[in-house]
Amino acid sequence: MLIDTHCHLQFNAYKNDAEEVLARCKEKGMLLNVVGAQRDTSLRAVELARNHDFIYATVGLHPIHTHATEVDEEEVKFKTREEDFDYEFYKSLAADPKVIAIGECGLELYHVPEGADKEKFLQRQKDVFLKQINLARELEMPLVIHVRDAHEEMVQFLDEVRKGSQLPGVVHCYTGNWHYAQKYLDMGLHIGFTGVITFPPKKTDPKSQIDLLEVVKNYPIERLLIETDAPYLAPQAYRGQRCEPWMVEEVAKKIAELRGVTTKEITDIAENNARKLFRKIK
Ligand SMILES: [Zn+2]
Repeated sequence: MLIDTHCHLQFNAYKNDAEEVLARCKEKGMLLNVVGAQRDTSLRAVELARNHDFIYATVGLHPIHTHATEVDEEEVKFKTREEDFDYEFYKSLAADPKVIAIGECGLELYHVPEGADKEKFLQRQKDVFLKQINLARELEMPLVIHVRDAHEEMVQFLDEVRKGSQLPGVVHCYTGNWHYAQKYLDMGLHIGFTGVITFPPKKTDPKSQIDLLEVVKNYPIERLLIETDAPYLAPQAYRGQRCEPWMVEEVAKKIAELRGVTTKEITDIAENNARKLFRKIK
């Protein structure tokens, strides 16, 4: 069974045709983890999960929402709304049987607002992230971790807070090199790959894609998760289109090709891994 372990079907990108997108996913017989980024999108993720058997939800506060800032993604521009992490609010959402993880949470130094004090900015993200780590620990749930342009800071921070213990969770949309992948694996984390692994190398920076594919080829398969991060990052075969969760098949196909196994094998392993990590999936 195909599982997209990270998508945002509740985002505005689907506001006109969410039902059609859901129907396409249902037709594939797949499972989805719809991930929240702040209060309202976490709540909407839970509502979707309550209304559809094949949907599960993750609730949390994304690091780009710890400060108000302009975000310019591939196809979308928006201004983030600053929010504080309301522990009790998220705790009550997470009690829902369909909520399988806490996140997405983490550190992101890609969108530092102009003129901001980087240290202060980072500290605030760490504070908000730590609250979510604590919630995940209290509820014995895995974390969905976002990290962008901040692997060094992330590794240091996690080493401080976990004090040698293993951390159940996933570093989602991994685009880094083997050095950091190894560190996350040592902490007990899974690694999630998106359509980014299907992209051709960037002309300006071909090495980063080569490094990423080395990770895909060599990391321990029992830590594999596949995801889309839809509506972002449509795989190469659909580049330029809005991404939809069923496109996760392209990610499985690419991993299979790189590791010399069948797409079905990868799909099965990824399903098995997801069910073990996200224990509330039925
Ligand atoms: Zn995401």
